[in-house]
Amino acid sequence: MDDGFLYFGSASISDDADVQRVIGSRGGRKCLHSDERGSFEFDLCSTLENKFRWMLLWAQPRYFVQRQRQLQWCVTGAPIPNAFSSLFKIDPPIDFIGISYGLACTVVELYWRILADPGTFPDVGEPAVESLAPLTFLTHDSLPLKEARPWRQPVCTIRGHFAKSLAYMALEQAFLHEFAHIGNGHNDYLSTLNLLSLTDRPYHPVAAEKDSLLLQTLEMDADATGLMYTLELNERKRLDLPKYADRLDDAKRIANIAAFGAVRAYIRNILFSNYVFWRCKDQVWDLEKQPHDDHPQPAIRMKFLRDGLARCLLAMPHLGYSPNDFITDSREIIQSAEIACARIMHVEPQLEVYQSAFQTADAVHYFEKLEDYWCKIRHSLMKYPKVRMLAPCNLPHNHALI
Ligand SMILES: [Zn+2]
Repeated sequence: MDDGFLYFGSASISDDADVQRVIGSRGGRKCLHSDERGSFEFDLCSTLENKFRWMLLWAQPRYFVQRQRQLQWCVTGAPIPNAFSSLFKIDPPIDFIGISYGLACTVVELYWRILADPGTFPDVGEPAVESLAPLTFLTHDSLPLKEARPWRQPVCTIRGHFAKSLAYMALEQAFLHEFAHIGNGHNDYLSTLNLLSLTDRPYHPVAAEKDSLLLQTLEMDADATGLMYTLELNERKRLDLPKYADRLDDAKRIANIAAFGAVRAYIRNILFSNYVFWRCKDQVWDLEKQPHDDHPQPAIRMKFLRDGLARCLLAMPHLGYSPNDFITDSREIIQSAEIACARIMHVEPQLEVYQSAFQTADAVHYFEKLEDYWCKIRHSLMKYPKVRMLAPCNLPHNHALI
């Protein structure tokens, strides 16, 4: 374990030395030892271990395991926020998902800060007990978080539990996004193109424009499938809530109801938590930079997420939440998320910038270019999927919905 590999949840890997070597080379140097049990990091990683293990049990029936192909995952020791999926071509080959403990800590602390602000989610718990005492503000440069803990937690216990629910929602979606890269065969596909796999690429590559379009399209494909899983997962939590609500203390029960108790609530929370997750690490929209990135920028991902949620609601009428109502609600949700981000980053909210990213010609054009490319590579991707894929464009675009 001294090579800095956090070895949770992957006990059945047959050739762990090989996986450790590969993970270790990605910069994972912090190792949590058993004497750290009870620490913030250890408890968080243990909770994630249980959640991810349960999610894989839930998701694995979809994964048509090829003979000799295993699906494994771990929380890596890397302090930088990072999530990745890999195909390790060892014998037997391993499909692998890594979530860094740096990502887990950063996300939880981010939402603690947001709920420590009485102006955000004023309907949850007792916001009046929170106060906006001076604190260090988050900036793009201050992420990943390096400061010593304890960070600012909400005073209200309900708001603290609710913040954790939002954080876990974001982390579960990150995990399911990575699972979608595997399930939809992206790593297999990339390995046939002589392109570096997603995991072997440098952290911020200046990709050639064509490679960039392909990688961004695969990100959208993973977002779409991850979103479908996230919706199903949260619907299941909502349906299961009455079964375990009696066993929760009051604060946890109220926080759970706020997080999952109604379809409208958890869909609001998915949109909100994604916005915060992306917005706090990137500019909203930069036309010059976008064609060279390997991920779509927040404005594009957000538009895609919003439209994807609307499409899912159209395909899931039993949820009883009309896509048009959701599109209307989404404006307020995104605005409140932007305001929440601006407060913890101590900047002016960029409401106009965001609206224009949704509506200006260049952003909309880029978005449509990605969707077109998504349809174009569909037939190539279809050779590899091991899970049910979400159809990209056989449902109306959101502007047709409104
Ligand atoms: Zn991805």
